[in-house]
Amino acid sequence: MLPAQSTPADDSQQFSAGAQVAVLLPLPVESAYDYKVPEGAVFAAGDIVEVPLGRRFEVGVVWGPGRHEVRPEKLREIVHKLDVPAVPGVSRRFIDWVAGYTLQSPGALLRIAINPARRWVPPQAATAIASSGLSLAAAGVKSTPAREKVMAAIGHETFTTSTALANKAGVGSGVIRQLIDAGALKLVPLPYASPFTPLDPKHARPRLEPAQAEAASELIAKVGAGFSVTVLDGVTGSGKTEVYYEAVAAALAAGKQVLILLPEIALTAQSLARFAGRFGGVPALWHSDLNYKARREAWAGVAMGDARVVIGARSALFLPFRDLGLIVVDEEHESAFKQEDGAIYHARDMAVVRAREGQIPIVLSSATPSLETVINVRKGRYGRVHMPTRYNAAAMPRISIIDMKANPPEKGAWGRAWLAPPLVNAVNRTLESGEQALLFLNRRGYAPLTLCRTCGHRLHCPRCTAWRVEHKLTRRLQCHHCGFAAPQPESCSSCGAKDSFVPCGPGIERVAEEAAARWPDANVRAVASDTLERPSAVQELIEDILEHRVDILVGTQVLAKGHHFPGLTLVGVVDADLGLSGWDLRAAERTHQLLHQVAGRAGRAEKPGKVMLQTHDPAHPVIQALATGESEAFMESEIMGREALAMPPFGRLTALILSGPDEVAVIAAGRTLAAAAPRGEGIEVLGPAPAFMALLRGIHRHRLLLKTDRGCPPQSLVREWLESVKIPSSVRVQIDVDPYSFY
Ligand code: ADP
Ligand code: ZN
Repeated sequence: MLPAQSTPADDSQQFSAGAQVAVLLPLPVESAYDYKVPEGAVFAAGDIVEVPLGRRFEVGVVWGPGRHEVRPEKLREIVHKLDVPAVPGVSRRFIDWVAGYTLQSPGALLRIAINPARRWVPPQAATAIASSGLSLAAAGVKSTPAREKVMAAIGHETFTTSTALANKAGVGSGVIRQLIDAGALKLVPLPYASPFTPLDPKHARPRLEPAQAEAASELIAKVGAGFSVTVLDGVTGSGKTEVYYEAVAAALAAGKQVLILLPEIALTAQSLARFAGRFGGVPALWHSDLNYKARREAWAGVAMGDARVVIGARSALFLPFRDLGLIVVDEEHESAFKQEDGAIYHARDMAVVRAREGQIPIVLSSATPSLETVINVRKGRYGRVHMPTRYNAAAMPRISIIDMKANPPEKGAWGRAWLAPPLVNAVNRTLESGEQALLFLNRRGYAPLTLCRTCGHRLHCPRCTAWRVEHKLTRRLQCHHCGFAAPQPESCSSCGAKDSFVPCGPGIERVAEEAAARWPDANVRAVASDTLERPSAVQELIEDILEHRVDILVGTQVLAKGHHFPGLTLVGVVDADLGLSGWDLRAAERTHQLLHQVAGRAGRAEKPGKVMLQTHDPAHPVIQALATGESEAFMESEIMGREALAMPPFGRLTALILSGPDEVAVIAAGRTLAAAAPRGEGIEVLGPAPAFMALLRGIHRHRLLLKTDRGCPPQSLVREWLESVKIPSSVRVQIDVDPYSFY
């Protein structure tokens, strides 16, 4: 069942004893439940309260007047209000809006917003040790040299730890404990100390170049001037971050909070250090990997307002900001902003909605704005600030194409090769001049596919529609979808041949093997997300590169975002065609964005950079756009293609994904849905068909795709559609409005 829409009450609405109120619970339930306000209590809309639910208790939010679906005598009472800030009206309206648009239960979204409050324990009041004013004798303790030293050391001071006091007195900390117990020392409560240091908008202002200053002043003008969307479209290295920091500074100076959304992969120590360098203090951090303590601190800081800036991944959007004044979405084109586990929403699009609900400005920053964003600029819905040149007159890298058909790699003693002669020569020259090279390949492991030479049998995952990828480092073949891993079998399970498996195609480990063989004196390093799992690994790698302990990096897109390596002057894209094939609406656009980003790594300082694209399809529009730097023509043809097929944003897509352990039931449910599919002008239903990943972690998956004209909102259609059929509970139906992935 789909959630019923409700409208949250505004903050001023109060409910007194006996009133029937709707309390939304952070659970995937259809709507808010009614409760009664107990004798002597008054609640306001947005209050976070504890309520009975079945035989347990749950924490929820007062959403508005009761819906009166329950007879008054059956109503249960709210237990009490938690001692935490209320969820502001704008956050509640936002949750309801997103729930209505994405066809999810508002409770599932509320959970993101208030999860830290569900197990709320008030922060331990911090205490300090001070003298109680009593002498040792008055406190009734025997005088010893150690005790006298402590009494002499404490004077009128306070100490936050007994170790600090013990150190000053030159005694063991056991003595302190005895004196507290005896009453010669006492514990005094300290006022709440925010873990968030103040931020100074003027701390380290850069000297902006004229073009940057102009861009900054346009963004600053939006701060405090209501709702607006501005696209900050500047080439890599133009200083977009420095420029939007100026708008952040303006919002801070106006006493407002700021949210900076980054793709999870870009939330590195580097980006935090850069922020701290500019503003002289640390922001609150928000992402899926935070421990409970950090999560609670950040949540409380946001809700109370002492966390002035949040740098976070997608879900930070749902935090109950006390007074948000600006949102920045950095790398707005990143598909990582589309959340697909649990709640399904596009954080960039919903960030625009959040800005509108809060009547505040939002900045979308990118060197390669998404097609949707480009169209919104053209239609005049979004403003645009353009920065066409790099900071400090740095040159854009020269990009050239290597046609792999005309320049096949030469096989070496190590076996098959993946680097064509022109790229090999370029690496030679780079090493000779003491510079660094990046060989980019967006594929982890050694080889993407392993097959039996005798019978052609492919080693695939038993639980997914996917091949297993060889990893030499771990000596295992691994499924990149579910993590299943096992050593390579000795003989083929299909034909029994021994030692017959061969790797097909390259991953970064294999290219690194070739590089190490070709350039034995160079330091070669293969880098992917799985080699950077230790928290300090990224930091160490960056230092190794900056201090030139690495000559040749072989890496995936983990390195493509936002790092600056002055000695890195050559980028070789090992397989520029990767990602172009396969049916995906945005395959070409995404490849263009990624390769543009990778190319932007080359030569940012005094030395100009060089980028070489190895391709089998040199005439492909994406390759041409990269080589000529003319992305407008490419975007134009993409836009025309989408328009001709009425694909988003000209038409709208909604995916229904059916999944379950029983394939027969999944197929039957697909048929049931297809038979009841909405019909009419401007409505088309595709499928059901097995998903590209028809088997994922042992679950069978089929898909239907609803395609509607722009003027025909899919939400009500889908709502009625699903209400008209009965799907067994063993089959899960997920709705993905505006899908980005089609696997
Ligand atoms: P982009 O996000 O557009 O790629 P960045 O904001 O990361 O660009 O800037 C690229 C590099 O240039 C960074 O190292 C940044 O600190 C530096 N930079 C940009 N503008 C300035 C400036 N006005 N003063 C000093 N350094 C700058
Ligand atoms: Zn698998």
